[in-house]
Amino acid sequence: MNVPGTAQSVSERFELRFKAERPHFTRYLLHNTSLERLVSGCRWTEGPVWFGDSACVLFSDIPGNRIVRWSEAEGASIYRHPSDFANGGTRDREGRLVSCLHGTRAVVRTEYDGTVTLLADRYSGKQLNSPNDVVVKSDGSIWFTDPHYGIMSDYEGYRAEQELPCNVYRCDPSDGTLTLVADTFACPNGIAFSPDEKRLYVSETGAMFDESTTRHIRVFDVSADGRALRNERVFHTVSPGPADGFRCDEDGNIWSSAADGVHCISPDGELLGTVFVPELVANLTFGGRALNRLFICGTSSLYSLFLNRRGARRP
Ligand code: MG
Repeated sequence: MNVPGTAQSVSERFELRFKAERPHFTRYLLHNTSLERLVSGCRWTEGPVWFGDSACVLFSDIPGNRIVRWSEAEGASIYRHPSDFANGGTRDREGRLVSCLHGTRAVVRTEYDGTVTLLADRYSGKQLNSPNDVVVKSDGSIWFTDPHYGIMSDYEGYRAEQELPCNVYRCDPSDGTLTLVADTFACPNGIAFSPDEKRLYVSETGAMFDESTTRHIRVFDVSADGRALRNERVFHTVSPGPADGFRCDEDGNIWSSAADGVHCISPDGELLGTVFVPELVANLTFGGRALNRLFICGTSSLYSLFLNRRGARRP
């Protein structure tokens, strides 16, 4: 089924091309698989979220102002249009979709009946910039990055004045309280907890139009009460980068977007290997029946690759 507009289901296969930096990386791959392109015709894909209960992926086409749904059985269709220029997404502990929106500069939750609940759009009385990526911790708290990319042009939102520095926040969904958890970034972007939630990874992708920023993934220790961050340090520099979005596998390896595909990084910060993708990759997630299928948002397309690895299940 074709999506109205430009996005459409496709079925293309590319020979698996990879580079192992460490020998054991080859065991993470399945050598009778290929990289599959499932959807094409988007402008900038982001924010893939797996729904095992309906065996589908939702992902954003940010400039297309839509969230696209793909399933093996039905192919691509429009899930939401307009999407308020939705970017990153995840599911909360109850399985509800949580989305970062550039258009309304907010983080929202989609309820079971389809209504959309505002979770956060202001901090200290000022409007957020353009929430970018989001994760939900096992205690239900919602952690998100707030760079300015969505308000710097009219392409992925609406150009507007920036009111706040680009920070990382923790939102308590029970009362909407926002807590500032990191204020040391030029532009924080991707965000993911380690499987045991003792660490939080956040990428620095740099202020728009500023090429002088050092781009890398940083790591923090999560405080014992699970509410604050400590001991910030540089974890790994993805090259060619930047690391826009990433997720952990069951062993705590980080599978990150990169300009040449997907990089797999050990919990020690060592590059284990690269899977090459024909387009620049912005984000990815684990899905499929066994969480062993990587869904990859690469510029105009949604790709997938079966791995001999499973995504981290939440504690
Ligand atoms: Mg992002």
